[in-house]
Amino acid sequence: MIIPQELISKAKEKLGDKAAVKIAKDLGFEQFDERNLKALCYWHEEKTPSLVWNPKDNYYNCFGCGKKYDILDHYMDRENLTFLGAVEKLFNETKVDFKFGERNVKTKREYIYPILEEKRERVNVDKYFAKRKISKETLDYCDVREDEEGNAVFNYYDTNDVLLTVKYRPSRKVPRGESKMWCQKNADTTPILFNMNRINPAQPLLICEGETDLLAVIESGYKNVVSVPFGAGSETWIEENYVFLEQFNKIIVWADNDENGIKMKRSVIPRLGQWRCYEVEPPTIVEIDGVDRHVNDINEVLYFFGKEKVLEVIGNAKEIPISGIIDLASVQDFDFQHSEGVYTGLKDLDNWLYKMFFGCVNIITGKNSSGKSVLVNQLCIGETLNQGYDVFVFSGELTKPQLKKWIEWSFVGRRHIKRTDRHIRKIKPEIEKKVRDWYKGRIYTYDNDTDFTATTVLAKMEELARRKGVKVFVIDNLMMIDLECGFDSIWQKQKEFVIKLVNFANKFNVLVHLVAHPRKIEHDRRATKFDIAGSGDITNLAHYVMGIHRYTPKEQEKMGMSYPYSCVIDLFKNRLTGTQDKELNVYFDLDSYRFWSTLEELDKQYKWDNETYKDKLPDPREAIDKPEFMEGD
Ligand SMILES: [Zn+2]
Repeated sequence: MIIPQELISKAKEKLGDKAAVKIAKDLGFEQFDERNLKALCYWHEEKTPSLVWNPKDNYYNCFGCGKKYDILDHYMDRENLTFLGAVEKLFNETKVDFKFGERNVKTKREYIYPILEEKRERVNVDKYFAKRKISKETLDYCDVREDEEGNAVFNYYDTNDVLLTVKYRPSRKVPRGESKMWCQKNADTTPILFNMNRINPAQPLLICEGETDLLAVIESGYKNVVSVPFGAGSETWIEENYVFLEQFNKIIVWADNDENGIKMKRSVIPRLGQWRCYEVEPPTIVEIDGVDRHVNDINEVLYFFGKEKVLEVIGNAKEIPISGIIDLASVQDFDFQHSEGVYTGLKDLDNWLYKMFFGCVNIITGKNSSGKSVLVNQLCIGETLNQGYDVFVFSGELTKPQLKKWIEWSFVGRRHIKRTDRHIRKIKPEIEKKVRDWYKGRIYTYDNDTDFTATTVLAKMEELARRKGVKVFVIDNLMMIDLECGFDSIWQKQKEFVIKLVNFANKFNVLVHLVAHPRKIEHDRRATKFDIAGSGDITNLAHYVMGIHRYTPKEQEKMGMSYPYSCVIDLFKNRLTGTQDKELNVYFDLDSYRFWSTLEELDKQYKWDNETYKDKLPDPREAIDKPEFMEGD
């Protein structure tokens, strides 16, 4: 349950200065000045008062150490309440009307809720964490328990104070190869955030990698902290907790000082919104007996440097620099092997490109009926899903049923399609179901028949990148985007739109495919990158430029082949590996609406299909019939 911020502000206002006095008396502030609501800071050593009540937003602010503290923090602290409990108390006192109906209520249908471990005496757990300088009080605060085998138990409560996930870890050092963490057997595990029911959205939120780091932060005295449920490698928590996360104006990300942590930061910060994210600069090396030792996580900072250091690192978190300006020496080398991207699935093309890397924009061009849609469906949609990423499609020209039909044929593949004539394809219902289950919830299509403005489309794309973690975006095509201008400024606006796409791809580390028509050219001439409408400007901006051309009967005749190629894919530009001005001849398979250049490609199985087939597909090139081509695009 998310409490509207306006209601909380209203309640705090009603309570007004009384809150300041109450907090001061409860905690026994030294040199408390009741008229000016000022005192010596309770949270750091000082000689002149720098803790001042902010009467507008109703909280204490320390100009010395940066501590912020409001009445809800106070109730959570003093009375060991959850955030919801604290709000309820405040609302009761100030007579603000709100229904807390969902509190403690299991609202998820068909969810197997975990069982709360009974509260045993903690022996092993306390001992283990004491060695890591984490106290019993902190373990109590976070409701850490001990199971019958002496393992530590972490209870994950949602914002309604309902237990949704229970995790365990041994209370000893875990040798390599043994599992370090597991969830409760026979219970569901929603990826909520640890400690999220004790978070005050008015305060900056600290996000860290695991429960032990979180305990170290709380031990140090900073309580507005959550940890992600399944380590640095899993990002499902962003979507699951999106509405919760949207409440914060400031988010501090403290990931581990290792490869996974760096990766996590790089991919999570754009999704959370760079404008509100702050980075920390913790110590990375500690000297022990004259030997330098790597400092990896928050618990180690606590262990080697103490609580004050942890608080100092949090207090000194920095805004993330605006991209666009960078010291060249600090630029990371582009690492082909470890950079993510999508393979095209066509052998030669992948040899030239290696991958189509995230962070890039690809422009695809081709005349009408050239096979553009087939290329887009196969390379940009099918291969993306098959490699485990989700995709967004803006398709201005195809109707949704048409798009769905063509995409499904290419997923199904030739092996499972029986074509009775040019138009009728038979697919077994069980195959169709498998395919649909496989891609369900993974292809997001633009669904707004009236608003094609660049602004709205880009806003949707940003939402999908942030909320759903979508990695590949297809815009088919540029001409269908309403650039909100007249004809006289259209080239300028196109350029601006492509610049926005380049920035978008870079910011969210995603791949954007933009289909752009060539200018009107002679019927039988093959388009080059210079023919792309909107002049050379937009191809200069893109990282990749591809073209597709469908051979005319005349051209096919010239080949002198009994089974001539259907199309040629041009790789005009490839800024990443540099191999460009290449062409790949391909055959078109009418059954499955796919391009292929080798038999493996023709018989490619997408991942919905895990059967092994002994028989090989017959080579169409050995058949008597000549290849047929698709209608329309
Ligand atoms: Zn202070």
